[in-house]
Amino acid sequence: DPRLQGISEAIRVVPHFPKPGIMFQDITTLLLDHKAFKDTVDIFVDRYRDMDISVVAGVEARGFMFGPAIALAIGAKFVPLRKPRKLPGEVISEAYELEYGTDCLEMHVGAVEPGERAIVIDDLVATGGTLSAAIRLLERSEAEVVECACVIGLREVKVMACLLHCISDSAGSMA
Ligand code: 5GP
Repeated sequence: DPRLQGISEAIRVVPHFPKPGIMFQDITTLLLDHKAFKDTVDIFVDRYRDMDISVVAGVEARGFMFGPAIALAIGAKFVPLRKPRKLPGEVISEAYELEYGTDCLEMHVGAVEPGERAIVIDDLVATGGTLSAAIRLLERSEAEVVECACVIGLREVKVMACLLHCISDSAGSMA
């Protein structure tokens, strides 16, 4: 896709953030570039427009920067998957492993109806732990997770994206 090069060039890599040794992929520079931002959203919209998707679930925080635009364009609702104690209503929670310790994602009970077809959006997949927790939340609500899609797939985790596909019938789709 000829749009990918511009998107790739608009993402800034910040060495040693948030700690030494990490090459942080900064998508805020992509958001500053109207063409690259629009191309990113359009690629997802082109893929999901005709797939009968009624739920776009976005992972806090950077999934919130792409998910709502995609949801509006494909005629779906947007469901925020949030970090603990941010959502005011009744929630279900799923923990996932971090390099050191665990974290958790939460979703409002009733946000998704059984049988709805969902996609999960985030900015980046690394180990796949965050997306796995997102899939579990949606599947506990009996939604069908059709795919997970991220703007950035770190090269070494393409295997993990395939694995996600095997475990949950959800494909890891990366622009
Ligand atoms: P995973 O759970 O796949 O190991 O990590 C993915 C999560 O970590 C995503 O929610 C993503 O936002 C965040 N993340 C990890 N490293 C980076 C990075 O270098 N850049 C950005 N933008 N997000 C990152």
